[in-house]
Amino acid sequence: MRHIDRDEIARRLTYERCIPIVRDAMIAFSMGETKQLLRSILPLSEGRLFGVMPGALGAHEAFGAKVLSVFKDNAAKGKQSHQGVVLLFEPDGGEPVCLLHAGEITAIRTGAASAVATDALARKDAKRLTILGTGEQAITHARAIAEVRAIETLVVWGRSPERAQKLADHVRGELNLETVVAPTTRVAVVDADIVCTVTSAHEPIMEGKWLRPGAHINIVGSSYAGPVEVDNDTVTRARLFVDSREGVIAQGAEFLNAKKAGLISDDHIVGEIGEVLSGKVEGRRSPEEITAYKSLGHIVQDLASAWALYAGDD
Ligand code: NDP
Repeated sequence: MRHIDRDEIARRLTYERCIPIVRDAMIAFSMGETKQLLRSILPLSEGRLFGVMPGALGAHEAFGAKVLSVFKDNAAKGKQSHQGVVLLFEPDGGEPVCLLHAGEITAIRTGAASAVATDALARKDAKRLTILGTGEQAITHARAIAEVRAIETLVVWGRSPERAQKLADHVRGELNLETVVAPTTRVAVVDADIVCTVTSAHEPIMEGKWLRPGAHINIVGSSYAGPVEVDNDTVTRARLFVDSREGVIAQGAEFLNAKKAGLISDDHIVGEIGEVLSGKVEGRRSPEEITAYKSLGHIVQDLASAWALYAGDD
């Protein structure tokens, strides 16, 4: 069986390549062409999860599963928060053909999915990007969003000002952007055209009333029912889109909080990004509207990326 390691994924799964792969996967997902079970996550203990996520790219396409741990405090130990494997099967004889580094695929495809959503929903003239969080998803989101909008300024906030400065310095060098470290989340958010929340926070770190008219926000850091990064206002003020309607209704913590408070119903979810991209659902309707994308991540994004790496002749 072939093995594709972390370095090979980082080298070959560029954002330029991954964004269209994930875009097509999100459309296929929303058209009902793919098959997947709801993400199953086993809580091990505080801050330690085990996830098993099976799926297929289509009835006669490649299939497989991602099996991984999500350990909250790993960054401090120099490890990825998500560690595991994607196991890929070929569709002709049902043979397992490839094992891939799941942490690297997850890191890149999640940024790519937010870029797909941003491209579909953010104002075309968006140039100020704010990232709340300084971990792995922070850098992957900076790289990915810069592929779809002409970002001029990146504003970073982290609960560690040193890590925020380090990220800002790194991005300035790598992406040639003006970078600013914000002292508070409010300062970071109020002028932003695009906000990405990519923390492991369990309580809201920002308020929806801070978002300026026309802003777009990607809410990414909470990937199961429980921890929330943003308050109910953020959810209620925005025209809300998701990667998977079924997934967010079952596991989207910020959505579930606002629903539990009686502020919204399931109808508040306007549609899936795949539905916007296929023209089934209208995305942004005006330059002043606030749009939000709730990301949980789904296996089809991983499998499509994995299959391209396995079968691609690059
Ligand atoms: P990292 O561990 O690399 O980074 C986590 C970041 O969150 C760090 O900046 C950390 O700050 C910050 N943080 C933790 N707790 C808090 C808090 N209470 N308040 C503010 N900031 C906090 O993780 P990743 O970058 O890999 O992932 C970020 C989040 O995104 C995770 O929760 C992860 O599960 C989720 N995720 C979601 C995916 C999706 O598809 N939607 C896919 C992959 C990840 P500090 O350095 O100070 O600890």
